[in-house]
Amino acid sequence: MIEPYGGRLVHRVLSEPERARREAEAQDLIRVAPPIDQLYDAEKLAIGAYSPLDGFMGAEMLRSVAETGRLPNSLPWSMPIPFPVPPGAANAASVKAGDEVGLVDSQGRLIALLHVEERFALDRKALALATYGTDDPKHPNVADLLGAGEVAWSGRVDLVRRLESPWDRAEPTPAETRAEFERRGWKRVAGYQCRNPPHTAHEYIQRLTLEREDVDGLLIHPVVGRLKKGDYKPAVILEAYDALVRHYYPSDRVMMSPLTITMRYGGPKAALFLAIVRRNYGCAVYIVGRDQAGVGKYYDPYACQRIFDAFDIGVTPARYDESFFCRRCGWMASGKTCNHPLSDRAETSQSRVREALATGTPLPPEILRPEVAEILRRPDVMLT
Ligand SMILES: [Zn+2]
Repeated sequence: MIEPYGGRLVHRVLSEPERARREAEAQDLIRVAPPIDQLYDAEKLAIGAYSPLDGFMGAEMLRSVAETGRLPNSLPWSMPIPFPVPPGAANAASVKAGDEVGLVDSQGRLIALLHVEERFALDRKALALATYGTDDPKHPNVADLLGAGEVAWSGRVDLVRRLESPWDRAEPTPAETRAEFERRGWKRVAGYQCRNPPHTAHEYIQRLTLEREDVDGLLIHPVVGRLKKGDYKPAVILEAYDALVRHYYPSDRVMMSPLTITMRYGGPKAALFLAIVRRNYGCAVYIVGRDQAGVGKYYDPYACQRIFDAFDIGVTPARYDESFFCRRCGWMASGKTCNHPLSDRAETSQSRVREALATGTPLPPEILRPEVAEILRRPDVMLT
């Protein structure tokens, strides 16, 4: 199986006796309650999803990532992982290098310990420009960044307890997905990034990937971080994929697992980051369709594929053009395999599918599997 990125899987999860001891001592700690996005990052750092990173980035590392797309040790890395101190956090101003801070969730539960190594001013606007190519506050991640604290802490993280999963089942760690791949005898696994229930264009590129000679299995790895209005509920995405796997895929070649991180809509840089994360979960191949991790019109839809030529992260990108059902071909196709005009293509865009579901318009199986459509037609599938 492919090695973790940087060669070693980070594991900074406290053992049970250690956890009990640290929690008893933690009464005196300065506690801050960061936004859920930062708690997701703290958890992912500690379980090795962001290996070789084992803590939040300091000023020098942030500068290196922004200016070169690499960590100071020259390993490609595209996304900054800072810890902006939540504005207004009590006692935060007194925290200095060498202190330990408790990161708590919205209910006050201690999630992680942050060993502060550095305290520095965060140039949020410069970081937004370097990462997302824009400082337009209409970009969702830029808005988050500009609204974050202007001081950041760097430092290693110890995980006290896992966050509650928004799913009805556990979220495996990189070590656990790797163990499961091994149990299944999969050596080369392809990772599939998604944010939505599957329609046929998604299924098509998953199938093309499963047909590859260098792929033993597929990890469907939906990102379900903080949700916004109009997002499908995580359990619905899971159930829809369950239906697809159960009714159509050989179950011994496909596995699904949630990934609770904030979706960074950074186009190419986000795609590269998501591939690095999947490598840590054990994926040697990574599926990159058109406009992965894009939002609005900020990114060239194929820049997310080209970045894999500029930065070698040891993962084989499986790159696909936009695919669709062509009525003339009577098949799923892309511009590489079909010469028919746009008018012959069944519209499979997520927005059109949502519209049809909302208005009760029948959806042909060329667009959505009936078993999936049945789930998506239920009331309350989206966050309102
Ligand atoms: Zn055609």
